[in-house]
Amino acid sequence: MTRILVVEDEESIRESLAFLLVKEGYEVQAIINGSEAFEAFEKFDPDLVLLDIMLPGLSGVEITKKIRQKSQTPIIMLTAKDTELDKVLGLEIGADDYVTKPFSGRELLARIKALLRRTGEVISVDGGLKVGPIEIDQDRHQVLIRGQETSMPLKEFELLLYLTQNSGRVLTRNQLIDRIWGSDYFGDTKTLDVHIKRLRARVEKDPAKPKYLQTVRGVGYKFENKATE
Ligand code: CA
Repeated sequence: MTRILVVEDEESIRESLAFLLVKEGYEVQAIINGSEAFEAFEKFDPDLVLLDIMLPGLSGVEITKKIRQKSQTPIIMLTAKDTELDKVLGLEIGADDYVTKPFSGRELLARIKALLRRTGEVISVDGGLKVGPIEIDQDRHQVLIRGQETSMPLKEFELLLYLTQNSGRVLTRNQLIDRIWGSDYFGDTKTLDVHIKRLRARVEKDPAKPKYLQTVRGVGYKFENKATE
């Protein structure tokens, strides 16, 4: 399920946004206070953030800066009318888009979908995911690679799913190990590399020169959704 974090102190806007997004099939966490936004971001691990600029605690601009230090998760700023300065500033510090209040639900949903597409995920109604040469049906644990059904061990499936869900984002070795093997895993960290190697053999046309499952030297791995074969 695609998760959206909403940070908005105006109750009427926050509640109608949450209603709209839940109805659209997103998992939503809505918070009021800017000072709680970053913690909520880390815990909820959203796929997209809707962020008001004028907030109690910490402003939307400050929150964006903090998020951008560690993540490229798409951010849409919700700006009050006639605050051109805020819009420009928001985009300069790394927000991806903005909508001006009052906005229509339809317009906002279109922006959200466009951004999620741009980050490489195509969400279909049944919770499936298509990115690069890969199609994953989460419910059925089914993977198609270039249209061919491919079965794989559970950990490989989970690793591929997590990497593709976070397409374009660098994931550290620790993040990956925590997520797939659990934070109490004290095994050999080579296990991760072995799984990546196996996935490359399945996914890449030339596993020796991976285009999708890329190593980020000294950090971890990322799934490059914009690769061309
Ligand atoms: Ca506000």
